[in-house]
Amino acid sequence: MPKFLKKTFALITILFFLYLSITKIAAYVVDKDFNRVTLKPPYTISEKALTLYNKLPFVADLHSDVLLWNRDITKRHSHGHEDIPRMIEANMALQAFTIVSKTPKNMNFKGNDDKTDNITTLMIATGRPPATWFSLKERAIQQSKELYDFSSASQGKLRVITNQQELEIYIEDRKSNKNQTAGYLGVEGMQVLEGDLANVQAMFNAGIRMMAPTHFFDNKIGGSAHGMKKGGITPFGKEVIQKMESLHMIVDLAHASPALIDDVLKIATRAILVSHTGVKGTCNNVRNLSDAHIKGIARTGGLIGIAVFEQAVCGTNAAATAKAIKYTTDLVGVKHVAMGTDFDGAIPAHFDVTGFPLIVEELLKLGYSNADIAAIMGGNIRDFMLKNLPE
Ligand SMILES: [Zn+2]
Repeated sequence: MPKFLKKTFALITILFFLYLSITKIAAYVVDKDFNRVTLKPPYTISEKALTLYNKLPFVADLHSDVLLWNRDITKRHSHGHEDIPRMIEANMALQAFTIVSKTPKNMNFKGNDDKTDNITTLMIATGRPPATWFSLKERAIQQSKELYDFSSASQGKLRVITNQQELEIYIEDRKSNKNQTAGYLGVEGMQVLEGDLANVQAMFNAGIRMMAPTHFFDNKIGGSAHGMKKGGITPFGKEVIQKMESLHMIVDLAHASPALIDDVLKIATRAILVSHTGVKGTCNNVRNLSDAHIKGIARTGGLIGIAVFEQAVCGTNAAATAKAIKYTTDLVGVKHVAMGTDFDGAIPAHFDVTGFPLIVEELLKLGYSNADIAAIMGGNIRDFMLKNLPE
Protein backbone atom coordinates (compact mmCIF):
# COMPACT_ATOMS: atom_id res chain seq x y z
CA MET A 1 0.00 0.00 0.00
CA PRO A 2 1.43 3.46 -0.89
CA LYS A 3 2.40 5.58 2.12
CA PHE A 4 -0.27 8.27 1.56
CA LEU A 5 -3.00 5.60 1.39
CA LYS A 6 -1.79 4.08 4.65
CA LYS A 7 -1.92 7.51 6.26
CA THR A 8 -5.43 8.19 4.92
CA PHE A 9 -6.60 4.80 6.11
CA ALA A 10 -5.14 5.42 9.59
CA LEU A 11 -6.79 8.86 9.73
CA ILE A 12 -10.20 7.45 8.73
CA THR A 13 -9.88 4.71 11.36
CA ILE A 14 -8.97 7.25 14.05
CA LEU A 15 -11.87 9.52 13.04
CA PHE A 16 -14.28 6.57 13.04
CA PHE A 17 -13.32 5.50 16.56
CA LEU A 18 -13.37 9.12 17.69
CA TYR A 19 -16.95 9.39 16.35
CA LEU A 20 -17.92 6.18 18.14
CA SER A 21 -16.54 7.36 21.48
CA ILE A 22 -18.07 10.83 21.10
CA THR A 23 -21.49 9.30 20.32
CA LYS A 24 -21.25 7.08 23.41
CA ILE A 25 -20.48 10.06 25.62
CA ALA A 26 -23.09 12.27 23.92
CA ALA A 27 -25.81 9.61 24.29
CA TYR A 28 -25.02 9.27 28.00
CA VAL A 29 -24.87 13.02 28.73
CA VAL A 30 -28.10 13.85 26.85
CA ASP A 31 -29.98 10.83 28.25
CA LYS A 32 -28.93 11.58 31.84
CA ASP A 33 -29.84 15.25 31.54
CA PHE A 34 -33.27 14.76 29.95
CA ASN A 35 -34.55 11.81 31.99
CA ARG A 36 -34.24 12.82 35.63
CA VAL A 37 -36.30 11.71 38.62
CA THR A 38 -37.90 13.89 41.28
CA LEU A 39 -37.37 11.25 43.97
CA LYS A 40 -34.21 9.16 43.82
CA PRO A 41 -34.16 5.43 44.61
CA PRO A 42 -34.11 3.46 46.88
CA TYR A 43 -37.68 4.23 47.89
CA THR A 44 -39.29 4.02 51.31
CA ILE A 45 -42.42 1.89 50.97
CA SER A 46 -44.58 0.34 53.69
CA GLU A 47 -44.38 -3.41 54.25
CA LYS A 48 -48.06 -3.75 53.35
CA ALA A 49 -47.79 -1.94 49.98
CA LEU A 50 -44.56 -3.71 49.05
CA THR A 51 -45.94 -7.17 49.88
CA LEU A 52 -49.06 -6.50 47.83
CA TYR A 53 -47.01 -5.04 44.97
CA ASN A 54 -44.61 -7.97 44.76
CA LYS A 55 -47.55 -10.38 44.62
CA LEU A 56 -49.23 -8.59 41.70
CA PRO A 57 -49.46 -11.12 38.87
CA PHE A 58 -49.05 -8.62 36.03
CA VAL A 59 -47.61 -5.11 36.34
CA ALA A 60 -47.63 -3.15 33.08
CA ASP A 61 -47.12 0.29 31.62
CA LEU A 62 -48.43 1.81 28.38
CA HIS A 63 -45.60 4.23 27.59
CA SER A 64 -41.81 4.48 27.69
CA ASP A 65 -39.53 6.32 25.27
CA VAL A 66 -36.35 4.60 26.50
CA LEU A 67 -35.41 3.38 22.99
CA LEU A 68 -34.79 6.96 21.83
CA TRP A 69 -31.57 7.45 23.80
CA ASN A 70 -29.49 4.49 22.62
CA ARG A 71 -29.15 3.34 26.25
CA ASP A 72 -28.09 -0.30 26.53
CA ILE A 73 -31.12 -1.52 28.47
CA THR A 74 -29.65 -4.98 28.99
CA LYS A 75 -27.44 -3.32 31.65
CA ARG A 76 -28.38 -1.59 34.87
CA HIS A 77 -27.90 2.18 34.91
CA SER A 78 -28.01 4.76 37.68
CA HIS A 79 -29.56 7.36 35.33
CA GLY A 80 -32.83 7.43 33.39
CA HIS A 81 -36.05 5.69 34.37
CA GLU A 82 -35.66 2.06 33.37
CA ASP A 83 -33.67 -0.82 31.92
CA ILE A 84 -34.22 -4.57 31.96
CA PRO A 85 -32.55 -5.22 35.36
CA ARG A 86 -34.59 -2.46 37.02
CA MET A 87 -37.80 -3.61 35.28
CA ILE A 88 -37.28 -7.14 36.58
CA GLU A 89 -36.51 -5.83 40.09
CA ALA A 90 -39.77 -3.83 39.84
CA ASN A 91 -41.84 -6.91 38.91
CA MET A 92 -42.68 -5.25 35.58
CA ALA A 93 -44.32 -7.75 33.21
CA LEU A 94 -45.07 -5.66 30.13
CA GLN A 95 -43.80 -2.30 28.91
CA ALA A 96 -44.91 -0.45 25.79
CA PHE A 97 -41.74 0.81 24.08
CA THR A 98 -42.89 3.85 22.15
CA ILE A 99 -40.85 5.40 19.37
CA VAL A 100 -40.23 9.13 18.99
CA SER A 101 -39.25 10.30 15.50
CA LYS A 102 -39.37 14.11 15.43
CA THR A 103 -39.83 16.85 18.02
CA PRO A 104 -39.85 20.60 17.33
CA LYS A 105 -37.24 22.98 18.72
CA ASN A 106 -38.63 25.13 21.57
CA MET A 107 -41.22 22.37 22.09
CA ASN A 108 -44.19 23.62 24.11
CA PHE A 109 -47.74 22.56 24.91
CA LYS A 110 -49.49 25.47 23.15
CA GLY A 111 -48.42 25.63 19.51
CA ASN A 112 -45.64 23.98 17.49
CA ASP A 113 -45.05 23.69 13.75
CA ASP A 114 -43.16 20.91 11.97
CA LYS A 115 -40.38 23.09 10.53
CA THR A 116 -37.67 22.27 13.07
CA ASP A 117 -36.46 19.01 14.58
CA ASN A 118 -34.37 17.96 17.58
CA ILE A 119 -34.21 14.27 16.72
CA THR A 120 -31.96 14.60 13.64
CA THR A 121 -29.12 15.86 15.86
CA LEU A 122 -29.90 13.17 18.42
CA MET A 123 -29.76 10.41 15.77
CA ILE A 124 -26.33 11.65 14.60
CA ALA A 125 -25.03 12.32 18.12
CA THR A 126 -26.06 8.87 19.39
CA GLY A 127 -24.40 7.09 16.46
CA ARG A 128 -27.49 5.84 14.64
CA PRO A 129 -27.10 4.71 10.97
CA PRO A 130 -27.12 7.52 8.35
CA ALA A 131 -30.53 6.32 6.99
CA THR A 132 -32.07 7.59 10.26
CA TRP A 133 -30.53 11.03 9.79
CA PHE A 134 -32.80 11.72 6.83
CA SER A 135 -35.91 9.52 7.21
CA LEU A 136 -38.56 9.44 9.95
CA LYS A 137 -39.65 6.00 8.77
CA GLU A 138 -36.07 4.73 9.19
CA ARG A 139 -35.98 6.17 12.72
CA ALA A 140 -38.96 4.01 13.61
CA ILE A 141 -37.54 0.90 11.94
CA GLN A 142 -34.14 1.43 13.59
CA GLN A 143 -35.60 1.79 17.11
CA SER A 144 -37.76 -1.32 16.55
CA LYS A 145 -34.65 -3.23 15.50
CA GLU A 146 -32.83 -2.04 18.62
CA LEU A 147 -35.57 -3.53 20.84
CA TYR A 148 -35.22 -6.88 19.07
CA ASP A 149 -31.41 -6.61 19.45
CA PHE A 150 -31.79 -5.96 23.19
CA SER A 151 -34.10 -8.95 23.38
CA SER A 152 -31.53 -11.19 21.63
CA ALA A 153 -28.75 -9.95 23.93
CA SER A 154 -30.85 -10.29 27.09
CA GLN A 155 -30.39 -14.07 27.53
CA GLY A 156 -34.13 -14.65 27.73
CA LYS A 157 -34.81 -11.73 30.06
CA LEU A 158 -36.72 -9.59 27.54
CA ARG A 159 -39.36 -10.78 25.07
CA VAL A 160 -40.97 -8.73 22.35
CA ILE A 161 -44.71 -9.44 22.20
CA THR A 162 -46.50 -9.07 18.87
CA ASN A 163 -49.66 -11.15 19.20
CA GLN A 164 -52.14 -12.73 21.61
CA GLN A 165 -50.58 -16.16 21.47
CA GLU A 166 -47.10 -14.90 22.40
CA LEU A 167 -48.64 -13.01 25.30
CA GLU A 168 -50.52 -16.09 26.52
CA ILE A 169 -47.36 -18.20 26.41
CA TYR A 170 -45.38 -15.49 28.21
CA ILE A 171 -48.00 -15.13 30.98
CA GLU A 172 -47.93 -18.88 31.53
CA ASP A 173 -44.13 -18.99 31.52
CA ARG A 174 -43.77 -16.05 33.87
CA LYS A 175 -45.78 -17.89 36.54
CA SER A 176 -42.71 -20.04 37.20
CA ASN A 177 -39.99 -17.58 36.12
CA LYS A 178 -40.24 -13.95 37.15
CA ASN A 179 -36.65 -13.29 36.14
CA GLN A 180 -37.89 -11.91 32.81
CA THR A 181 -39.88 -9.05 31.39
CA ALA A 182 -41.51 -8.18 28.05
CA GLY A 183 -42.37 -5.30 25.80
CA TYR A 184 -44.34 -4.36 22.73
CA LEU A 185 -43.64 -1.61 20.23
CA GLY A 186 -45.54 1.63 19.69
CA VAL A 187 -45.05 4.88 17.78
CA GLU A 188 -45.61 8.48 18.89
CA GLY A 189 -46.73 10.41 15.82
CA MET A 190 -47.57 8.85 12.47
CA GLN A 191 -45.25 11.23 10.58
CA VAL A 192 -43.20 8.00 10.47
CA LEU A 193 -45.53 6.90 7.64
CA GLU A 194 -44.08 9.74 5.52
CA GLY A 195 -47.53 10.18 3.96
CA ASP A 196 -47.61 6.67 2.45
CA LEU A 197 -50.43 4.30 3.43
CA ALA A 198 -48.24 1.29 2.55
CA ASN A 199 -45.98 2.24 5.46
CA VAL A 200 -48.66 1.13 7.96
CA GLN A 201 -47.82 -2.40 6.83
CA ALA A 202 -44.08 -1.54 7.00
CA MET A 203 -44.53 -0.51 10.65
CA PHE A 204 -46.50 -3.69 11.35
CA ASN A 205 -43.72 -5.74 9.74
CA ALA A 206 -41.19 -3.99 12.00
CA GLY A 207 -43.13 -5.35 15.00
CA ILE A 208 -45.02 -2.16 15.84
CA ARG A 209 -48.49 -2.83 17.28
CA MET A 210 -49.64 0.59 18.53
CA MET A 211 -49.49 4.02 16.90
CA ALA A 212 -50.53 7.50 17.99
CA PRO A 213 -51.66 9.70 15.07
CA THR A 214 -49.86 12.83 16.26
CA HIS A 215 -47.11 13.93 18.63
CA PHE A 216 -46.14 17.59 19.10
CA PHE A 217 -47.20 19.04 15.71
CA ASP A 218 -50.08 18.61 13.22
CA ASN A 219 -49.28 16.07 10.51
CA LYS A 220 -50.87 14.38 7.49
CA ILE A 221 -53.12 12.27 9.73
CA GLY A 222 -54.58 15.08 11.82
CA GLY A 223 -54.12 17.72 14.53
CA SER A 224 -51.96 17.58 17.64
CA ALA A 225 -53.07 19.01 20.99
CA HIS A 226 -49.86 21.07 20.71
CA GLY A 227 -50.06 21.87 16.97
CA MET A 228 -50.71 25.17 15.18
CA LYS A 229 -54.22 24.36 13.84
CA LYS A 230 -55.21 21.46 16.15
CA GLY A 231 -57.65 20.18 13.51
CA GLY A 232 -59.51 16.89 13.14
CA ILE A 233 -58.74 13.83 11.04
CA THR A 234 -57.75 14.14 7.35
CA PRO A 235 -59.02 11.83 4.55
CA PHE A 236 -55.57 10.17 4.60
CA GLY A 237 -55.89 9.81 8.39
CA LYS A 238 -59.18 7.95 7.94
CA GLU A 239 -57.54 5.49 5.55
CA VAL A 240 -54.68 4.98 8.03
CA ILE A 241 -57.05 4.22 10.94
CA GLN A 242 -58.98 1.73 8.77
CA LYS A 243 -55.75 0.04 7.70
CA MET A 244 -54.54 -0.13 11.32
CA GLU A 245 -57.83 -1.67 12.44
CA SER A 246 -57.65 -4.26 9.66
CA LEU A 247 -54.21 -5.31 10.98
CA HIS A 248 -55.37 -5.14 14.63
CA MET A 249 -52.88 -2.38 15.41
CA ILE A 250 -53.90 -0.33 18.44
CA VAL A 251 -54.78 3.36 18.03
CA ASP A 252 -53.31 5.56 20.79
CA LEU A 253 -54.86 9.02 21.15
CA ALA A 254 -52.15 10.54 23.38
CA HIS A 255 -51.22 14.06 22.19
CA ALA A 256 -54.21 14.17 19.77
CA SER A 257 -56.14 17.44 19.44
CA PRO A 258 -59.69 17.40 20.88
CA ALA A 259 -61.07 17.55 17.31
CA LEU A 260 -58.96 14.55 16.29
CA ILE A 261 -60.11 12.58 19.35
CA ASP A 262 -63.74 13.34 18.41
CA ASP A 263 -63.18 12.23 14.81
CA VAL A 264 -61.34 9.00 15.67
CA LEU A 265 -64.00 8.08 18.24
CA LYS A 266 -66.63 8.52 15.50
CA ILE A 267 -64.97 6.15 13.03
CA ALA A 268 -63.24 3.62 15.32
CA THR A 269 -64.70 0.13 15.38
CA ARG A 270 -62.11 -1.29 17.78
CA ALA A 271 -60.94 -0.39 21.31
CA ILE A 272 -58.86 2.80 21.64
CA LEU A 273 -56.35 3.74 24.31
CA VAL A 274 -54.49 6.83 25.49
CA SER A 275 -51.01 5.66 26.41
CA HIS A 276 -49.83 8.53 28.65
CA THR A 277 -52.01 11.34 29.85
CA GLY A 278 -53.49 13.27 32.72
CA VAL A 279 -57.11 14.30 33.14
CA LYS A 280 -58.54 17.81 33.13
CA GLY A 281 -60.53 16.89 36.26
CA THR A 282 -57.35 17.05 38.37
CA CYS A 283 -54.99 18.97 36.07
CA ASN A 284 -56.62 21.27 33.56
CA ASN A 285 -54.33 21.86 30.56
CA VAL A 286 -54.34 21.20 26.80
CA ARG A 287 -52.40 17.97 27.26
CA ASN A 288 -55.06 16.27 29.36
CA LEU A 289 -58.35 14.50 28.70
CA SER A 290 -61.79 16.00 29.23
CA ASP A 291 -64.50 13.99 30.99
CA ALA A 292 -66.33 13.56 27.66
CA HIS A 293 -63.21 12.08 26.02
CA ILE A 294 -62.50 9.79 28.98
CA LYS A 295 -66.06 8.47 28.66
CA GLY A 296 -65.78 8.19 24.87
CA ILE A 297 -62.59 6.14 25.11
CA ALA A 298 -64.02 3.91 27.85
CA ARG A 299 -67.07 3.25 25.64
CA THR A 300 -64.82 1.66 23.01
CA GLY A 301 -63.63 -0.82 25.65
CA GLY A 302 -60.52 1.33 25.94
CA LEU A 303 -57.84 2.27 28.44
CA ILE A 304 -56.61 5.55 29.91
CA GLY A 305 -52.93 5.39 30.91
CA ILE A 306 -52.11 7.87 33.69
CA ALA A 307 -48.63 9.41 33.61
CA VAL A 308 -46.02 10.21 36.27
CA PHE A 309 -44.84 13.74 35.55
CA GLU A 310 -45.86 17.20 36.64
CA GLN A 311 -47.62 18.55 33.52
CA ALA A 312 -49.86 15.48 33.35
CA VAL A 313 -50.96 15.30 36.98
CA CYS A 314 -50.16 18.77 38.42
CA GLY A 315 -47.91 17.31 41.10
CA THR A 316 -44.50 15.73 41.42
CA ASN A 317 -45.25 12.56 43.36
CA ALA A 318 -47.18 9.28 43.34
CA ALA A 319 -50.07 10.90 45.24
CA ALA A 320 -50.74 13.23 42.27
CA THR A 321 -50.85 10.30 39.85
CA ALA A 322 -53.09 8.34 42.24
CA LYS A 323 -55.45 11.34 42.43
CA ALA A 324 -55.80 11.32 38.62
CA ILE A 325 -56.36 7.55 38.70
CA LYS A 326 -59.10 8.01 41.32
CA TYR A 327 -60.80 10.74 39.33
CA THR A 328 -60.85 8.51 36.25
CA THR A 329 -62.03 5.32 37.95
CA ASP A 330 -64.80 7.34 39.66
CA LEU A 331 -65.87 8.54 36.21
CA VAL A 332 -65.71 5.34 34.12
CA GLY A 333 -64.84 2.45 36.46
CA VAL A 334 -61.64 0.61 37.39
CA LYS A 335 -61.56 -1.50 34.19
CA HIS A 336 -60.58 1.43 31.98
CA VAL A 337 -57.61 2.81 33.91
CA ALA A 338 -53.93 1.85 33.70
CA MET A 339 -50.41 3.15 34.20
CA GLY A 340 -48.95 5.15 31.31
CA THR A 341 -45.83 6.63 32.84
CA ASP A 342 -43.97 8.32 29.95
CA PHE A 343 -40.71 6.96 31.43
CA ASP A 344 -37.63 8.29 29.64
CA GLY A 345 -39.82 10.68 27.65
CA ALA A 346 -37.57 13.69 28.34
CA ILE A 347 -39.45 14.37 31.57
CA PRO A 348 -38.49 14.47 35.22
CA ALA A 349 -40.54 11.43 36.38
CA HIS A 350 -41.79 11.18 39.98
CA PHE A 351 -39.55 8.10 40.39
CA ASP A 352 -37.79 5.45 38.30
CA VAL A 353 -39.46 2.09 37.59
CA THR A 354 -38.40 0.70 40.99
CA GLY A 355 -40.71 3.32 42.54
CA PHE A 356 -43.85 1.71 41.06
CA PRO A 357 -44.90 0.36 44.51
CA LEU A 358 -45.31 4.01 45.63
CA ILE A 359 -48.43 4.12 43.43
CA VAL A 360 -49.81 1.05 45.24
CA GLU A 361 -49.11 2.79 48.56
CA GLU A 362 -51.23 5.76 47.45
CA LEU A 363 -54.02 3.58 45.99
CA LEU A 364 -54.27 1.76 49.33
CA LYS A 365 -54.64 5.12 51.09
CA LEU A 366 -57.51 5.93 48.69
CA GLY A 367 -59.31 2.73 49.74
CA TYR A 368 -58.94 0.58 46.61
CA SER A 369 -59.31 -3.20 47.05
CA ASN A 370 -56.40 -5.52 46.23
CA ALA A 371 -58.29 -6.71 43.12
CA ASP A 372 -58.80 -3.14 41.88
CA ILE A 373 -55.13 -2.33 42.49
CA ALA A 374 -54.10 -5.44 40.51
CA ALA A 375 -56.32 -4.29 37.63
CA ILE A 376 -55.02 -0.70 37.59
CA MET A 377 -51.34 -1.70 37.97
CA GLY A 378 -51.43 -3.96 34.91
CA GLY A 379 -54.29 -6.47 34.90
CA ASN A 380 -56.31 -4.15 32.67
CA ILE A 381 -53.45 -3.82 30.16
CA ARG A 382 -53.00 -7.62 30.11
CA ASP A 383 -56.72 -8.16 29.42
CA PHE A 384 -56.79 -5.41 26.78
CA MET A 385 -53.79 -6.87 24.93
CA LEU A 386 -55.12 -10.44 25.12
CA LYS A 387 -58.24 -9.15 23.38
CA ASN A 388 -56.89 -6.55 20.98
CA LEU A 389 -53.47 -7.63 19.73
CA PRO A 390 -53.48 -9.66 16.49
CA GLU A 391 -54.35 -13.31 17.15
ZN1 LIG B 1 -45.58 11.79 24.69
